[in-house]
Amino acid sequence: AELDTLDLVVLAAILFGTVAYFTKGKLWGVTKDPYASSLAHASSAKAGKTRNIVEKMEEQGKNCIIFYGSQTGTAEDYASRLAKEGKSRFGLETMVADLEEYDFDNLDTIPDDKVVFFVLATYGEGEPTDNAVDFYEFITNEDVNFTEGNEPALGNLNYVTFGLGNNTYEHYNSMVRNVDKALQKLGAHRIGDAGEGDDGAGTMEEDFLAWKEPMWKALAERMGLEEREAVYEPVFSIVEREGLTKESPEVYLGEPNKMHLDGTAKGPFNAHNPYIAPIAQSYELFSVKDRNCLHMDIDISASNLNYQTGDHIAVWPTNPGEEVDRFMNVLGLSEKRHTVVSIKALEPTAKVPFPTPTTYDAIVRYHMEICAPVSRQFLAQLAAFAPDAEARAEMTKLGAEKDYFHEKISLHHLNIARVLDIVGKGQKWTNIPFSAFIEGITKLQPRYYSISSSSLEQPKKISITAVVESTQLPGRDDPFRGVATNYLLALKQKQNGEPEPCPFGLSYELTGPRNKYDGIHIPVHVRHSNFKLPSDPSKPIICIGPGTGVAPMRGFIRERVQQAKNGEKVGKTLLFFGCRKSTEDFMYKNEWQEAKEILGDNFELITAFSREGPKKVYVQHRLKERAEEINQLLEQKAYFYVCGDAANMAREVNTVLGQIISEQRGIPEAKAEEIVKNMRSSNQYQEDVW
Ligand code: FAD
Repeated sequence: AELDTLDLVVLAAILFGTVAYFTKGKLWGVTKDPYASSLAHASSAKAGKTRNIVEKMEEQGKNCIIFYGSQTGTAEDYASRLAKEGKSRFGLETMVADLEEYDFDNLDTIPDDKVVFFVLATYGEGEPTDNAVDFYEFITNEDVNFTEGNEPALGNLNYVTFGLGNNTYEHYNSMVRNVDKALQKLGAHRIGDAGEGDDGAGTMEEDFLAWKEPMWKALAERMGLEEREAVYEPVFSIVEREGLTKESPEVYLGEPNKMHLDGTAKGPFNAHNPYIAPIAQSYELFSVKDRNCLHMDIDISASNLNYQTGDHIAVWPTNPGEEVDRFMNVLGLSEKRHTVVSIKALEPTAKVPFPTPTTYDAIVRYHMEICAPVSRQFLAQLAAFAPDAEARAEMTKLGAEKDYFHEKISLHHLNIARVLDIVGKGQKWTNIPFSAFIEGITKLQPRYYSISSSSLEQPKKISITAVVESTQLPGRDDPFRGVATNYLLALKQKQNGEPEPCPFGLSYELTGPRNKYDGIHIPVHVRHSNFKLPSDPSKPIICIGPGTGVAPMRGFIRERVQQAKNGEKVGKTLLFFGCRKSTEDFMYKNEWQEAKEILGDNFELITAFSREGPKKVYVQHRLKERAEEINQLLEQKAYFYVCGDAANMAREVNTVLGQIISEQRGIPEAKAEEIVKNMRSSNQYQEDVW
């Protein structure tokens, strides 16, 4: 306890020092909080901020812009890391920019002593991320037009580019590849390689680390930059607000924006503004004790949200209490968790990623991915703040040695607090400026779920089918548990008044900030997708949906049942479903019987139970057994849908389909593969995989 107090005093002194230094003695804060609303940045353009990137660079004295196209936050994170590194190692005046917030018709006026980075994730079937759609359309347009009319148009532009992709998808890293091609065509000069990170192989972080060193070297050469000893400089100042407590009405306790704080939340509900939706009902779909799969019905009737069968719903999770406590504890922040702080960006182009004033507890619980994998680079950076020399050496080693890091950290799925705990042997890491975490840890991301209901049948109730992530890993006492799915499990347990079989469940703050989620609510928004039934219900469909891949297929089949009930003619509907055992994880078993009663011979369920027979049987095997019928249906223009595991199943199904077409039509495999490709581009073959 003595140590705790001492640590707190030291920490307070450091924080005070930091504050005093960065505010240059002026006490910051009583005026209107510029970061009061996370909506502020979404609508910054509307609020009169410039969309002119050249003007912005000049205004801010920047010579290096790092644009990102990000869906799940990783690309944004990499952009911030590059910005920080460019500044600390090479003295570049860097700035991170959301592609959505700028126009591009004056890219040709960026002078050649500046550099533009593009950090671009590819989403789904080779699509740009939501925030990069306009940029992508602009830059890849054959008739792209710039303000100056230079020749070549981008002859002055120096650029660097890195892509984030997944090799299990057909259009691997197509975003960065196509943008790179377009920029080259326009005469721009690329510095270093067009990097590609592969999430499919699980090597994203290592690919990024391996790409950036030679890139920096090439950039330094091109721009005549001197590398210097990198010293950590915080991007944010944290100011403790003595006049405020967590009861003060202006303090954010996890509310995502100002409207939510004021209790005036209204639509449009989207990725910046969730709807706090009641859960109408929730129940378990598996009949085994050690694995869970949840069905939940989310009531959107009191909102203006809508959805179509095949869309996705995003769930905004909160972190489990155990992990929040662990994080607070290892940083020596436990006793200050409810202290109110304001956070200010020390660098005018940096954004505080959550609304303030807030508390440490709210930041960690509602806004940071504290359970996520840690990056090697981040550990190297934290080495300087280690509590003793031994811990410092260990952090440096972990940061430098890829294999060692893998063996010690990745294999056990350790999160940042667990790493610090182990490396520091239980000592508190009170020297780390809190800013390092705001910079180094991704914003807590909503999780997407393929909607498993039909909007025709229940337009105001969205169903989720989610398998709970819980894995026993070697070298750990407790199982690794996914953030969002265990949060959902805890909600389901509470809703049904179940005694908690998993202690993890209870520790979520289920009633939300200021009890705003009480009565079993969760924050959600809807994302529209292209995974859609044919508009003509009489067209045949073939659905491949093993495991939770059955989610959107359930929506499709319920839709067709409803159409049949409405007197429409419904075409042949095949569902290939797979799981381990018919007695364990055979989801929605009774519902398929009901569908059969309405659709009759037009509906058929084909099952593959992988652990029942002597040999493992998967959906792709069943598909092959039905080769003749599948081919006939395809010739009748059946739509083909695949949902679930992108890494193995979806690929194999694709291969098997090619084989079926080749055999049945007596054509070479290459020709059959071509046909499958064309089916994809004409939307006859649709995937919803993750
Ligand atoms: P997380 O905490 O996000 O963990 C997920 C995985 O990340 C872990 O399994 C692990 O591999 C890795 N990981 C996390 N932390 C660490 C760490 N510290 N160290 C190493 N590795 C780590 N799921 C469904 O069940 N049903 C659906 O219908 C469905 N539809 C989807 C649709 C789309 C478009 C997408 C993109 C995904 C869909 N998913 C669906 C998956 C879902 O979004 C979630 O990813 C899933 O539920 C796990 O979320 P979680 O928060 O529980 O796990």
